[in-house]
Amino acid sequence: MANIIDGNKIAKDIRLKLREETLAFKEKTGLVPGLAVILVGEDPASQVYVGRKGKACEEVGFLSREYRLPADTTESKLLTLIHDLNRDEFIHGILVQLPLPKHIATDKIIAAIDPHKDVDGFHPYNVGGLVTGSPLFIPCTPRGIMELIASTRIELAGKDAVVVGRSNIVGKPMALLLLAQNATVTMCHSKTRDLPAVTSRADVLIAAIGRARMITADMVKDGAVVIDVGVNRLDNGKLAGDVAFDEVVAKASYITPVPGGVGPMTIAMLMKNTLDAAKMKA
Ligand code: NDP
Repeated sequence: MANIIDGNKIAKDIRLKLREETLAFKEKTGLVPGLAVILVGEDPASQVYVGRKGKACEEVGFLSREYRLPADTTESKLLTLIHDLNRDEFIHGILVQLPLPKHIATDKIIAAIDPHKDVDGFHPYNVGGLVTGSPLFIPCTPRGIMELIASTRIELAGKDAVVVGRSNIVGKPMALLLLAQNATVTMCHSKTRDLPAVTSRADVLIAAIGRARMITADMVKDGAVVIDVGVNRLDNGKLAGDVAFDEVVAKASYITPVPGGVGPMTIAMLMKNTLDAAKMKA
């Protein structure tokens, strides 16, 4: 039976530590770390995420500013807001909640954020930095996953790591971080031939797909570390991950639950990146 990695507890410990660090930082510099979160439209899931980010800011002692803009906000209006926030001395981190409405070019918006305030780590400058090994910021979800893996004390060097999903926000940065820790990394996606053959070789398996319970026990190696990034809403209203938890838990050595695994870590890492941004400014 696998050990269940408690993301809620690990994230809470990180937030408590950040609160202390923030206090010390304020005393030393007189600065208060500030995060601006921009939400365009009324997507219910995004509204929940933005609310949680504001709450986490309060908890660790940051200044939090929320910009909730209507769905028909123009691209140029959003760009103007970002340029203003780039110049705002009280704001150290800027986060644009994705997805954006279709009439707005996401790439253009992300590229407009000052890379030193890009606490999501999605700006091409930081993506390039991640590839070469020196980003200002690491994207929050993959950074949080590395903390979860570190909590198992399993050495990654030489291990076979398989990442299912190749998005810019999870799959690709995840693969780069595992590679930087000397894992042998394979990336899978919807065109991968014989996915079970690849996943069942994984010592560390990351599922970032967005399909409920797609990773079943027959796709998992005995004793693997299984990290479930997926957040899927079932017809009965409950949340499910990309991993069939009930059966995989009997085979893995470590596994993350959904909810309570990767999700809380993403927000904790956003707080960490924002404090790092304020320290850079100081
Ligand atoms: P995307 O939709 O951007 O990417 C999904 C990836 O899965 C794609 O690369 C796609 O392949 C691949 N995929 C889809 N179907 C299959 C299949 N049958 N076999 C193999 N690969 C497949 O999703 P995200 O990366 O943004 O998110 C993934 C999941 O993680 C979602 O459930 C999301 O809600 C969740 N998430 C959770 C976060 C958290 O904090 N807990 C943060 C971010 C995301 P292809 O590229 O070929 O289309």
